[in-house]
Amino acid sequence: VFPPSVSDYYQFDDLLTAEEQAVRKRVRECMEKEVAPIMTKYWEKAEFPFEVVPKLGALRVAGGGIKGYGCPNLSITANAIATAELARVDASCSTFILVHSSLAMLTIALCGSEAQKQKYLPSLAELKTVACWGLTEPDYGSDASALRTTARKVEGGWILDGQKRWIGNSTFADILVIFARNTSTNQINGFIVKKDAPGLQATKIENKIGLRIVQNGDILMKKVFVPDEDRLSGVNSFQDTSKVLAVSRVMVAWQPIGISMGVYDICHRYLKERKQFGAPLAAFQINQQKLVRMLGNLQAMFLIGWRLCKLYESGKMTPGQASMGKSWISLKARETVSLGRELLGGNGILTDFLVAKAFCDLEPIYTYEGTYDINTLVTGREITGIASFRPAA
Ligand code: FAD
Repeated sequence: VFPPSVSDYYQFDDLLTAEEQAVRKRVRECMEKEVAPIMTKYWEKAEFPFEVVPKLGALRVAGGGIKGYGCPNLSITANAIATAELARVDASCSTFILVHSSLAMLTIALCGSEAQKQKYLPSLAELKTVACWGLTEPDYGSDASALRTTARKVEGGWILDGQKRWIGNSTFADILVIFARNTSTNQINGFIVKKDAPGLQATKIENKIGLRIVQNGDILMKKVFVPDEDRLSGVNSFQDTSKVLAVSRVMVAWQPIGISMGVYDICHRYLKERKQFGAPLAAFQINQQKLVRMLGNLQAMFLIGWRLCKLYESGKMTPGQASMGKSWISLKARETVSLGRELLGGNGILTDFLVAKAFCDLEPIYTYEGTYDINTLVTGREITGIASFRPAA
């Protein structure tokens, strides 16, 4: 049984609206009771739990921050709380929703035409269809703005050629949001590609040590035809992609918060239950110090994450702020989760005790949506006015 949540030491809940608290309650209940008991087996087999999708759909969190088109119209804060609650129990579940919602759906909402929004968003919001978001390529990860997949204009549409790597949900997604370089303008454009498009192939990436439930794929596109109606007319340069990333990074920042919450809750219970030297582990000063450090980290993470949401909601958030939130929170979470793994001793490396799974799941989150370093450089550029992504000549 997943332990009760005991990490809200500074009564962060008081800062939340009734709607945000209600979202927290419904996601937490579903994740603890219905999802937690089955996830470890899927994680170990690296399989996707399709049986969970209707439960997640019923939570009404997909497309959370989007207004209209059958989306739940949650505040960004409520969306962030939902992300954390999903990640607290299972980080892969939160990544599945994040890629689908905060990347793919958001790109359609921000950069799509009215017809595209009406056509795609309602069923995506209910998780009756699933989407993925393909930016990264085998040779262009941090350097994604240099991507090489091409989009060539032809009569009635576009021909896409190239490869994508690491694309979450891509092995089964109904629609794929794909970024490619327009061969006429040399700028990045966006497209909605259907899963059965001839010439499209997605192959699962095996042997991951984290987020094993998420199905990441290598995508190969050979002369894939996309009709004009499926070009995202609002994506005309890499800057348009970056706008989506700045928003989704707020959500990604809440994943390490959720993971740290879950690890703290597990450790808190474990230290009281397990005895060594005739006393519960919680009675030893060194263990208390580790637990308090974890809790202190969490309170700071909550407040930075919350403030980011408020900055976004008031229209004041900058890309550098979003990047600093994502990078700093994931750094602190790495420390928090590794203390938790340590506190469980040998059981800290067994998936049965959940901390090991959370420990591994945090690693790809530290790296995706811009690594710690790249997000640091985004903030560094903003505060100094000097870009330092490329080596000095
Ligand atoms: P590299 O760019 O090769 O970086 C390697 C190392 O070098 C890193 O430590 C990096 O910080 C450092 N580095 C690189 N450039 C610089 C620089 N200029 N200055 C300092 N240090 C630098 N992408 C998608 O498009 N869609 C997805 O759904 C998606 N899901 C993912 C899921 C998982 C599990 C993973 C692991 C990745 C996913 N990605 C996805 C890709 C992800 O965003 C990239 O892995 C990430 O941006 C890093 O790129 P890379 O792996 O090529 O590393």
